[in-house]
Amino acid sequence: MPAATAGRSSACAHRRLQSVDLLYDPPSLAGLAPARSPPSKTAVIKKLLRKVFRLDVARPQAPVRTEPALIALAQHGIARHRIHPAAGKVCDILQGAGYKAYVVGGAVRDLIAGIEPKDYDVATSATPEQVRELFRRSRIIGRRFRIVHVMMGSETLEVSTFRAAQDGTAETDEHGRVLRDNVFGSQEEDAARRDFTVNALYYDPSNETVIDYHHGVADLKQKTLRMIGNPAQRYREDPVRMLRAVRLAAKLGLVIDPQARAPIREMASLLENVPAARLFDEMLKLLLSGHAVKCITQLREEGLHHGLLPLLDVILEQPLGQRFVMLSLEKTDQRVREDKTVSPGFLFATLLWHEVLGAWEKRKAAGEIAQNALFAAMDDVLDAQADKLAITRRIAGDIKDIWALQPRFAQRSGKRPLRVIEQPRFRAGYDFLRLRAESGEIEAEEADWWERFANVDHDERQAMLVPEKGPARKRRRRRRKPADGAPNAGNDGAPDEGGGD
Ligand code: ATP
Ligand code: MG
Repeated sequence: MPAATAGRSSACAHRRLQSVDLLYDPPSLAGLAPARSPPSKTAVIKKLLRKVFRLDVARPQAPVRTEPALIALAQHGIARHRIHPAAGKVCDILQGAGYKAYVVGGAVRDLIAGIEPKDYDVATSATPEQVRELFRRSRIIGRRFRIVHVMMGSETLEVSTFRAAQDGTAETDEHGRVLRDNVFGSQEEDAARRDFTVNALYYDPSNETVIDYHHGVADLKQKTLRMIGNPAQRYREDPVRMLRAVRLAAKLGLVIDPQARAPIREMASLLENVPAARLFDEMLKLLLSGHAVKCITQLREEGLHHGLLPLLDVILEQPLGQRFVMLSLEKTDQRVREDKTVSPGFLFATLLWHEVLGAWEKRKAAGEIAQNALFAAMDDVLDAQADKLAITRRIAGDIKDIWALQPRFAQRSGKRPLRVIEQPRFRAGYDFLRLRAESGEIEAEEADWWERFANVDHDERQAMLVPEKGPARKRRRRRRKPADGAPNAGNDGAPDEGGGD
């Protein structure tokens, strides 16, 4: 492929490493374009027409011809042994076949920032079909954005072909959101269509050089998250970039550049047009980033939380709900940072629990039977999220299992506790109960009892059980007040009034 040979020779021409001034002037929007002579009359008229007819909507930043900075190992610090061997190998194979190929995006950014990358992306001049031909264990995926998954050992790498900058001809929805992005282009154009300057870095494992078109290394060192191009236009093309801004700033400890931050508040509503499945993926990334507390706090500050979890703002305004959600996020962050697994079902169950409690109360007050009311409340809450956030069916099942166990923890007599600990979701349900106790929603004693009950042998368990109060038939006729929160016998598995709240 000609691009490959051309790429190599141009890389050679730049091998004289340009030093990067780490204190360069931040590029203003105009600063991204090369110096120009005063505009001609026609240019002024064209500009006016564009403004009047809003032709500037979804118009591209004119591709800027910039010489990339080639940054040496001493400055960026990514020796080849620091990247995953699979990423190096994929680049080697592609380069060996005459294509350009680099580790790109988040992995380069994270390595420079001293963070272990969680995945590796490779950008190449080879088309998806050409990549497929080189790797037996690979497949082309994606519609909006066709890429190749290359399996190398136990690793899966995403290999994407250099994309052309948006030229205003891309298919968009009525709000300017780009629906397809499959026009291939040069490496320079590929850099220009990435979102933030720190994400437009290309690492060449063959010579340990970073190619930097947009001063990304300098921005990273100056702790600034800067959008490439016009931020409002880039958010319009893809509103998810607003969430990415918040997540990446939190993860990397960067400040969102004021120009990139300013439009977010008024453009937040564009998130409503993003397909629910994509929003869910991004939300999950955010919650499992290890910086969820920071992200959620920042989302609220930017006014972005409304569109995501429509009820999150309500939850965060109730003192108990807020305490519970924040506690859950803190624990999640801690687990992620310790490399422990986190269940998305558990997480969403905590985020929405106080909504369930509210809905359950309302239904009970309206005279519904407790158990029916709980299951209906669970559906109410999940349905309310469904339009915006495509919580997958499997995760919704996990969430419901955890919620449904909660009232059963209030019952400590008969055989019921023995059945509860046999439930496959007992552990998650118990962790959830513990969190409710820690947030002050229920007594710690209840969680302590279950912890002990789960850990002792059969005889001790029997001793711990609260005795049944007389035969069931008699009890049914009697009107009792559930004064001590003791369970109602007789309807096994049914939630106890007051048990869950
Ligand atoms: P992380 O892997 O930590 O979530 P990342 O930046 O690597 O962060 P990916 O989704 O893996 O995120 O994307 C890889 C690269 O693709 C990014 O670094 C960026 O260059 C580009 N990219 C991803 N999403 C977008 C987007 N919405 N708009 C423009 N470029 C994007
Ligand atoms: Mg990535």
